[in-house]
Amino acid sequence: MTQVGMGTDTSHDHMLSSEYSSLLALEFGRDPVVDDEAAFDIHPPPVAKDKSALPSRPPVVTIMGHVDHGKTTLLDTLRSASVAKGEAGGITQHIGAFSVPVKGEVGRSITFLDTPGHAAFSAMRARGAGVTDIVVLVVAADDGVMPQTREVIDLVKKDGDNVSLVVAINKVDKPGADAEKVEQALLAEGVQLETFGGDVPCVHVSGLTGRGLDRLVETISLVAEMQDLRAEKQGPVHGYVLESKVQKGLGPVATVLLLRGSLTPGSHLICGHTQAKVRLLTSPSGQQIKLVQPGEAVVVSGWKELPGAGDEVLSGTEAEVKKALVNRIRKAEIEATLQDVDAINITRREERERREEELQAKRDRRGQPQRVEAEKSDVDEIKELRVLVKGDVSGSVEAVAGAIQGIGNHLAKVKIIATGVGEVTESDVMRAKAAEGMIIAFSVKAPKAIESLAAGQEVPILSSSVIYRLMDSVKNEVIKLLPVTI
Ligand code: GDP
Repeated sequence: MTQVGMGTDTSHDHMLSSEYSSLLALEFGRDPVVDDEAAFDIHPPPVAKDKSALPSRPPVVTIMGHVDHGKTTLLDTLRSASVAKGEAGGITQHIGAFSVPVKGEVGRSITFLDTPGHAAFSAMRARGAGVTDIVVLVVAADDGVMPQTREVIDLVKKDGDNVSLVVAINKVDKPGADAEKVEQALLAEGVQLETFGGDVPCVHVSGLTGRGLDRLVETISLVAEMQDLRAEKQGPVHGYVLESKVQKGLGPVATVLLLRGSLTPGSHLICGHTQAKVRLLTSPSGQQIKLVQPGEAVVVSGWKELPGAGDEVLSGTEAEVKKALVNRIRKAEIEATLQDVDAINITRREERERREEELQAKRDRRGQPQRVEAEKSDVDEIKELRVLVKGDVSGSVEAVAGAIQGIGNHLAKVKIIATGVGEVTESDVMRAKAAEGMIIAFSVKAPKAIESLAAGQEVPILSSSVIYRLMDSVKNEVIKLLPVTI
């Protein structure tokens, strides 16, 4: 190993702390970026590169289509098929999803999402999470292609790499139903139905009478087989909340769609700003289960507070979940304060922009050549307030950095040179010194020795635990950099 002359034992392999590696990088004239975020929050486990070795999982299917085309009826009929005859209760509770066995294929099933209004579906999509493998587009044979039919077609087209389409022409039992006409209309919309040599299967069904539903299930199963859906059954949990409610005797419960990992009673989960030590896992048919498979939905009890529909569910050790939760809550608190600060900022920014426009108008009046010169000098003379941000948790560091980043204009602005969690350290001071910048310490201290080091090196340390005071101080520092104008 290279002799770096920093008084470190280099005779054997060991882990370097972020602080030490920063110092090392500086020693070699490099610009270190310390990212502590990963250590403070729980993230989804990485997706396996080679999926072929993973176990198969059931497809997750969403039924979509125009209002009154029969989605609810179809789901109800399918749901009743999900309960084996003679099973306790004989009815399935409505929990946001249910599982239908594929006839003649032992162990194979399909998970249908039946979240009202697809609220969770939209929320998950908004977060960029594609949980649906197959969309069943329901089109009523007596009504044809309607606005929401087109919306679904567009949605699937956009997400074509991850989602397959199956068309179900519904209400074929109705007199006057014309399935062929609907097929033609779908073709005109660019849906390449198999009937016309394309690859989108189309099944004629009646949600009311149950006609064609076996074929629909079979077709979905075939499409899923081609998708070759596989997921890690072991390891950390990654899933999404479909629905949640407070249930008598159980407290907050949430239907979780498991995408990957092993979810068992006793698992420690984090979801948004709440956590759970899983007490009970209940299947859609009301049975208590010990293990959930990826691609299945389950009711989870044991939450401290009610999780939100569409929120991501992850697992970790008890300590990891606790730490991540503190971090998320802290971040949210700061962001809430910042929203108030933002409102003030907008007013000030508008004022500044108005002043700048006035100045520009003055320059324009003086004539073109001077204006070019003025613009050139603006570019040349842009001043930077270089700032190193330290904070108590990564959430606060991120929020503070994000907030002060926007301070300034085309003449002087803030530049974040580094961020980190914890007390101000020697390497922070050296880093700020090298960049001729300053340090912001949010809710963290600088030990006495570091304070005197900073004073000696002429590195200002701005410390506060009140976000808007900090913002004001930074603004003042930026204003000091502004050239004196008329
Ligand atoms: P959604 O708005 O898409 O969920 O549609 P619904 O399932 O609420 O159905 C709207 C209406 O169409 C209801 O009056 C249903 O009874 C009726 N309907 C649904 N499916 C069928 C079907 O296959 N055949 C007939 N004849 N009527 C149906």
